[in-house]
Amino acid sequence: MSGRRGLLVVISGPSGVGKDTLIERLRELDPRLQYSISYTTRKPRPGEKDGVSYFFASRQKFEELVAQGFFLEHAVYNGNYYGTPAAAVEEARAAGRDILLKIEVQGAAQVRKRAPDGVFIFIAPPSKEELVRRQELREGAVPADDMVERLKIAETEMKHASEYDHVVVNDDLEPAVAEVLEIIRTARERQT
Ligand code: 5GP
Repeated sequence: MSGRRGLLVVISGPSGVGKDTLIERLRELDPRLQYSISYTTRKPRPGEKDGVSYFFASRQKFEELVAQGFFLEHAVYNGNYYGTPAAAVEEARAAGRDILLKIEVQGAAQVRKRAPDGVFIFIAPPSKEELVRRQELREGAVPADDMVERLKIAETEMKHASEYDHVVVNDDLEPAVAEVLEIIRTARERQT
């Protein structure tokens, strides 16, 4: 491994746009991408494992970690805290490994200030109607009142798309994944 510093890739996008599936596929196709596991105070959904999807923490624990400067960024989303551990990101980058953050827009703005060399990608839905449809498909996983709130947040989040280096429309999964991979490939090339 050369002295190359790992890339920091930040992916945002409204709830229901398909970020999880897209990131899963990205990592299948590009195993060099390490995923940053966030901390959150929200309750685990069925099937989510502590230390895999997220590190699930109490509010008190989260606030202690904030006070210790543990997070690269943190934000409140739909009444819960979410945060990215700073050390894991720094260690990966220092070791030359590329690291991917899936975070919402307020957190991404904080990361941009602290790591302006990051690659910031916003995943957008083809239309608002399609976003609503995809959110409804997730019904069961996300409670109904939570869904209404997430749609409201989505509208606000869409207004931030232009702050990102790239906006990728997730109409079909595979072309969207290919587009993100190409963005990452170009950013890697620029580094060498
Ligand atoms: P969910 O509850 O659906 O897993 O995530 C809700 C939102 O929080 C998503 O937009 C997700 O990308 C974002 N998120 C997940 N982890 C973090 C984090 O560490 N920091 C910030 N700022 N947002 C996060």
